[in-house]
Amino acid sequence: MNKTISQRIEEITIKLTNQLSVVETSGEINVSQTVYDILSQIDYYKDNPNDLKFVNVPNDKLGRKSVLAILRGKKTQSKKTVILIGHTDTVGISDYGPLMDYAHKPYELTEKFKEISDTLPEDVRLDLESGKYLFGRGIFDMKAGDAVIIALLEEISKNLDDFEGNLIYAAVCDEESNSSGMISVIPELVKLKKEENLDYLALLDTDYMTSEYEGDENKYIYVGTVGKLMPSFYVVGKETHVGESFKGLDPNQIASAITERINLNADFCDIAEGEVSLPPITLKQRDLKTEYSVQIAKTSTLFFNYATHISTPDEVLEKMKQAASEAFQSTIDSLNREYKRFCELAKRKYDVLPWKVNVLSYKELYEKVKLEIGDSLDEKISELSELLLKDESIDQREFSLRMVQEVHNLWSNREPVVVVYFSPPYYPHIYVEGKHPKEKALLDAVDKAIKTTKTDYKLVYKKFFPYISDLSYGAAPKDAKIISALKNNMPGFGVKYNLPLEDMQELDLPVLDIGTFGKDAHKFTERLDKKYSFEVTPELVYKTIINLLND
Ligand SMILES: [Zn+2]
Repeated sequence: MNKTISQRIEEITIKLTNQLSVVETSGEINVSQTVYDILSQIDYYKDNPNDLKFVNVPNDKLGRKSVLAILRGKKTQSKKTVILIGHTDTVGISDYGPLMDYAHKPYELTEKFKEISDTLPEDVRLDLESGKYLFGRGIFDMKAGDAVIIALLEEISKNLDDFEGNLIYAAVCDEESNSSGMISVIPELVKLKKEENLDYLALLDTDYMTSEYEGDENKYIYVGTVGKLMPSFYVVGKETHVGESFKGLDPNQIASAITERINLNADFCDIAEGEVSLPPITLKQRDLKTEYSVQIAKTSTLFFNYATHISTPDEVLEKMKQAASEAFQSTIDSLNREYKRFCELAKRKYDVLPWKVNVLSYKELYEKVKLEIGDSLDEKISELSELLLKDESIDQREFSLRMVQEVHNLWSNREPVVVVYFSPPYYPHIYVEGKHPKEKALLDAVDKAIKTTKTDYKLVYKKFFPYISDLSYGAAPKDAKIISALKNNMPGFGVKYNLPLEDMQELDLPVLDIGTFGKDAHKFTERLDKKYSFEVTPELVYKTIINLLND
């Protein structure tokens, strides 16, 4: 890339970083405005103001918005279009402690760090002294990535007579929280596609990229992305007084057995083309008893972050039901063992405990209750929905749980049971296998971009961007069986949690990430490698775009 573009990227990076935009604050609106203002200075948008606009997040308390810009080549009437995305929000800044006031001022912060360099971790200190890095909140995740896109749009716009095809850039808000920016942009993209008969080729993100392990010198380009589900469990035990402990069944013990069975268990890793997803990890486990008493808890809940490369919601649901059954059985076995030992010690008669494994999906529970009470079940569910929607302190996870609780409470069966369901959100994985022409074209475009980029860095392309991101919204499974397994087992879907699944299916895009390089995203030592990010990233992005559009 030529020097002027690199300098321009640095300039925009600093400008965007200077505008604090912590997720779920009004700073997000300000940074959208900054992006809009920079783009509106481009002659093309002065001449074509309709090609630059805001997309509001519907019903957003803060009034947040994303920016959507189209740049149309004039060389031919080509409908081919590449979509570029970048998020403009960041995580909070409290981790900077006394340096909080400098978190958004990269040059000043870098100087401040020099004053306290002896307190910094060794690798940070070395990077600081090298002068090769810029520090600041969001500079790496991912304002430099946005700057790369913006500077390329500026550059390309100077000679549109020689540019074939179109580019769309969406600068989206709220990525670090609920992705409401990207979720509201997706229907706009579908609308544009239909109205103008555009031929979308790929969805390209420039979110950050970093080393995958200690001493890793590779610089990655990721084609495709990891997905995420949140398998969740509602565990109903049998209450008892602590004085008659073996008469009860502690839901905490079953929940613990489920954690033991699933947490970080490599059996649940997805492997595609040798790339292994991380195993599931608990994000929450608690009982639902609100008071202190000498009665044991009656119910408990837990849920996992479950990364996917190939497993679909229906498959994950089955695996989780199986795991819950095994955990339930092992709890019963262990209780019987201990009860037998206790009876021997206490010289009492041992009778096998009465517990039976019972594991249901939410859909199965719903059907059982529906059989018993008919349509009044749906009435009760919508009454509760309405009530819960009014309370903003109830988040999407809590909402799902309350639905499960309600349906279970309406069931005549009071015996111990584990109900398996999904909590929001859902991020589909996108596996770019190369079987479809669009996938093949993208893999070729990336391959060619890497091969023609002269650099000392070791460039490697891999499948599956490893971080949960807005890229997941570029497609969704089309199989009705998969979608219904998700919808029917995620209480609150379409009510408290909305996902434009049909629009995602319509887009059906192969996705990729060509990131800037740096270290320590989401830490106060977050830093950007200037040379790679300002020189190599833009070249790779530019070449990939050109290869796709000129194919
Ligand atoms: Zn990011």
